[in-house]
Parts: sequence; C-alpha cells; structure tokens
Amino acid sequence: MEIEWIESQFFSTEKISNEMIIIHHTGSHNGKINSLQGTISWFKPDEWRSSRQVSAQYIIAREERPIIQMVQDEHTAWHAGRSQWEINGVLCHNLNNRSIGIELQGDGQLFPYTKFQYEALIWLVKQKMEQFNIPIELIRGHEEITSRKPDPGPYFDWERFKKGLTSVTVPGPTDDDGDGIIWLDENEKVKIPSGKDRSILEVIIDFFAGLFK
Ligand SMILES: [Zn+2]
Repeated sequence: MEIEWIESQFFSTEKISNEMIIIHHTGSHNGKINSLQGTISWFKPDEWRSSRQVSAQYIIAREERPIIQMVQDEHTAWHAGRSQWEINGVLCHNLNNRSIGIELQGDGQLFPYTKFQYEALIWLVKQKMEQFNIPIELIRGHEEITSRKPDPGPYFDWERFKKGLTSVTVPGPTDDDGDGIIWLDENEKVKIPSGKDRSILEVIIDFFAGLFK
C-alpha cells in the first residue's frame, strides 16, 4: 500500500494528541458518488475560500490506488465539527484536535464500500493504532460522535473492519516454489506447547525428537 501526499490548506498546527480515529464518507449527489477529484478540490481548492473549510488526514478511493494524505497526523484537520466522545473517562468535545480523520470515497447510506477500501483502511488504521497507541474502542464513525452526520453509514461493515484489525499475520515459512510443500529451515526451532495444552501427538513427536538429540 502506498500513500500519496497532496497538501490541504485547511489545518491547524495545534493538536492535543491522536487519541481517536474517525471514519467518514465523502458522500453523494443525486445518487452519484462524489468523485475523488471533487473531494480533493474540496479539501484543497484552487482559490482560497474563507467559509466552509474542511479537510481530513486521509482519503481512500473506491478503486485501487495510493491512499491520499492531505494533512499530517501531527496537525489538526477539520473533519469532526461539533462532536463529543468519552476518552479515558473524560467527555471530550470538538474532537478534531484529538483525532485522525479518514474519508472513504462513497456514500454508506446508499452503497457498499469496495474490497480495496476495507483492505486499505485496515492497513492504515492498524499502523496508526500502533504508532499512537490508539485502542480499538476509540475508532469510531462520524455518526457516533455527533447526531448531525450519517457517515460512514449502515453500509459500512464494522464487523468486517474490526475483524481485519484484530487479525495478525504471522511471519513464517512460505511456499516459495509453489509446489504446496513448505520446507522448514534446518535451524528453525519448532516450538511445541508444554503442559496440559499438549496433545498426545505432540508428546509422541517430542519423544522421538528427543531420541535424536
Ligand atoms: Zn463525516
């Protein structure tokens, strides 16, 4: 996954910390999903405008392409608006300066999101959770932190997303030549669980392994 940097004019360098991640959608007009270019120019208009200034850290397009970043994580983007959520037992308001905003191109009230969007979102959010020590409970939809907004909407599959976040990829031997056989390196130590979790098979394997030590 790659990240493309296109800087928005709309941000503030004052930030408390990245305690939350807030998921959005870019919306639609007359049943047509807003274009990626349209969203970029909304966050980075050709001419400076004084009203309706909005931005988010990231935009994930529907089609496979690099994730777009428009505001640095360390800066405050303007995506949450009037909002509130309890963080570590304290009810916090106006969450822009405590969060990273991620926009999904689409309208979750009308259309499902794409496979690529889930993959990219999971990849990105996993990184940010680790980098800023953000717990899964503080990854929320815009609709949860304010009653004014409907995004990412009923079509956003939270279960699929959270399953992806908690899944781990274990580095290990791979089938390099594609013949379906995975060869363990000679020096690789295979750890067998000890105690009551061991199956009889494992005990037998361990016994024979012991004979050749
Ligand atoms: Zn939103």
